[in-house]
Amino acid sequence: RLMRSLVLIGHGSHLNGESAAAVYRYAEMIRARGLYDEVVEGYWKEEPSLRQVLKTTASTDVTVIPMFISEGYFTETVIPREMGLGHQGPVPPEGVARVLGGRTVRYTLPYGVHPSMSDVILARAHEALPDSSPEDTALIVLGHGTTRNENSNKIVYQNAEVLRQSGQFASVHALFLDEDPKVGTWPEMVKAPRVVVVPFFASEGWHTLETIPEDMGLEGAVTTFVDNPNGQQTVYYAKPVGTHSAVADVILHLAEEAAGSSTSDGDTERVHDAAWNAFMDRARQGLRFGEVLVQPESGMFELRHALDEGKPGHELQTLVTPEGVRDFTRRDEGGHHRPVHTLRNMPRGWRAVMGQADLVRAVQYLYPAVIEETYAQSCHTLRPTPWATTARRQTGIYAKVQKATPEQLEEVAADVCGGCLRTRLWAGEKLPQTFFDGVPGAIPCAEACTFLVAEVREEVAGKRGGGAS
Ligand code: SF4
Repeated sequence: RLMRSLVLIGHGSHLNGESAAAVYRYAEMIRARGLYDEVVEGYWKEEPSLRQVLKTTASTDVTVIPMFISEGYFTETVIPREMGLGHQGPVPPEGVARVLGGRTVRYTLPYGVHPSMSDVILARAHEALPDSSPEDTALIVLGHGTTRNENSNKIVYQNAEVLRQSGQFASVHALFLDEDPKVGTWPEMVKAPRVVVVPFFASEGWHTLETIPEDMGLEGAVTTFVDNPNGQQTVYYAKPVGTHSAVADVILHLAEEAAGSSTSDGDTERVHDAAWNAFMDRARQGLRFGEVLVQPESGMFELRHALDEGKPGHELQTLVTPEGVRDFTRRDEGGHHRPVHTLRNMPRGWRAVMGQADLVRAVQYLYPAVIEETYAQSCHTLRPTPWATTARRQTGIYAKVQKATPEQLEEVAADVCGGCLRTRLWAGEKLPQTFFDGVPGAIPCAEACTFLVAEVREEVAGKRGGGAS
């Protein structure tokens, strides 16, 4: 039987958990359709990281979709570099295909540049104004606009043109927040009495909630009456395209097109399979790893915080889905976001009871890439990446971490990694045994994580001073 993995790549955030939420949502929607054997998420600033995500996929046929609204620095530079795709710069329309360590990996354009995004714009427009008409309704497709990347503007113009051709609106306009034609000039351009505005933005945020309504002279409300030289106009302000459920269809179109006439016959990836088989063997006997404890329980498995061992079940909140486990453990007990899952701050007070397939997914959420990397360490196949290599690879605002002195690096690492279960192989530390050998807290760190890199950058910039940032 053919086996296929779909990987959705998001930006993520070290500071707030909401950034990853959109990617979770699309992954869940696509998973529910059952077209792929698995839908995996990976992030720049969360886990599994871009460096790790490929090894967390179970099949040898992997399609990677960047969950970005436009092409740019992340889709052309950061993601291909960090994932080791051996590609830099603009991605061709057919995507980039590589064979990496036994997996066929296809990397596509970001979802936002797919032609079917015009359907999503239309869907948003109809939500805001169900009875729009070619007689009296204008459509504004509103882009960010940036001098750095003309491609992101091109896509707004293209979508506007497609919708103009559709004849469903009296006029269709492409306007931008940060460049000409600016959104504030809309009263000069748009004459129709009813105006639908659809932000071509990835998510709801400062721009969609504040700057756009402000620049347009709206009250931030969904519907605003505006008195212009054109007479009174009614503006219907839609939600951003990037959060519409139809984006799931765009993702699937992209993935199918990337696979194209590909003859790759996906199979179970052997190393991944061996790691999880080894994990399940231990789990059947009861296993402690990291901060958790897994125990067999009448054909199912129970997972809980190891410090809650022996607590009666009724004193703990029972979770029944992998997503439930993910959401409960996304924050520490103080309510702070946990971008690094191996930091010793997993909240207590829960237990999860589930079958084998769900246990695997719950563990993937609890400790992304940990089973794969720890298993590789126990087989002596995990290759550490020294700090100097990680530092040299950095670009943009992170390039300056190359200037960190060994003392600065050690100071930050003592602070950050001191609270982490992982052992820093990248700094020359040794880890002769792992939780596969019965040492629960023994988890390797093969390469400095982006959280540490960001903290080192703060240190070099002199902004770190006393305490966590
Ligand atoms: Fe943990 Fe430090 Fe490794 Fe990050 S770099 S995963 S904080 S040990």
